[in-house]
Amino acid sequence: LLSLTACSQRSEEGTTSAGTTEAAKGFPADSLIGVALPAKTSENWVLAGDLFTDGLKEAGFQSDVQYAGSSTTVADQQSQIQAMVTKGAKVIVIGATDAAQLSTQVEAAKAAGASVIAYDRLIKNTQGVDFYVAYDNFKVGQLQGQALLDGMKAKKPEGPYTIELFSGSSDDNNSAVFFDGAMSVLKPQIDNGTLVVGSGQTDIKQTAIDAWKPENAQRRMDSLLTSTYTSKTLDGVLSPNDTLARAILTSIKGAGKPLPIVTGQDSEVESIKSIMAGEQYSTINKDTRNLVKQTIQMVKDLQAGKQPEINDTKSYDNGVKVVPSYLLEPQIVTKDNAAEAYANDPNLAPLTK
Ligand code: BGC
Repeated sequence: LLSLTACSQRSEEGTTSAGTTEAAKGFPADSLIGVALPAKTSENWVLAGDLFTDGLKEAGFQSDVQYAGSSTTVADQQSQIQAMVTKGAKVIVIGATDAAQLSTQVEAAKAAGASVIAYDRLIKNTQGVDFYVAYDNFKVGQLQGQALLDGMKAKKPEGPYTIELFSGSSDDNNSAVFFDGAMSVLKPQIDNGTLVVGSGQTDIKQTAIDAWKPENAQRRMDSLLTSTYTSKTLDGVLSPNDTLARAILTSIKGAGKPLPIVTGQDSEVESIKSIMAGEQYSTINKDTRNLVKQTIQMVKDLQAGKQPEINDTKSYDNGVKVVPSYLLEPQIVTKDNAAEAYANDPNLAPLTK
């Protein structure tokens, strides 16, 4: 019934030796480092750009940090990367807009002697990606699926529970990984009847929200409410991130329905407020400061001619190679542990008091 997307990102075996000969040679300490980020579809990307600009400068590098525009994202990013190659960047860090549309640019970077680091999102179908740095996306999905179950059980100890599933933009490689992670927890419960997807829409193609746009999530929720929930109660919604979670909640409030358990991701300010107010149920703590710091450490190692540290050589297969990765641990956050989770975050800690 339920078609899970092929789980090519997590192959059980296969290792790839890290690094390249160019990487092992090192490069001048004031070299140009390019950072190509996607459109600002969530707060983490805004933060990442600022942190890269400051952190690379502090480390003594020159930097070129670019965002793709919100409508012509793929073409923008392709030409930004090409320009970084032309300017002689020694490392290009890429948060891909479209995982499958960058092989030409990545290979041009390699041909020019640059190293390529996929940041947060994997780049598919090219040998040219040297490293991947991210929070473990599959784990993010598992935590979201588990939070959805836990939240519904805390409200109503006995199932069955009626839910809806949302996933991210299909061009973002993370979207399927998040969804597969969540489904690894939810599917057994769907199969045994504890969970019922009210609309029957369980295929990732039906649940995907184009370009991660909140208005698209709100529209889908509006139409699900009309088609399926005129008399039925909706107990929970799997939302892949905070921007979409808030759009889903806006739709449900607009319809005057009781609020279900809704998951999220990114620890966005408005979502932390919503969680503390008892509306959104959960988010994921994946501190952007640590992810950028880890990436800059990799750049420093490459500059010094050292092999960057990696801690995973089997999970993230991009279709042609298993990309050596440094994965950080995501953390689930609900109202119960928010104060503790954000204790060291000057922006978020005050919101949890
Ligand atoms: C990131 C998420 C973010 C989403 C939308 C994903 O690739 O991993 O943190 O919510 O992009 O911007």
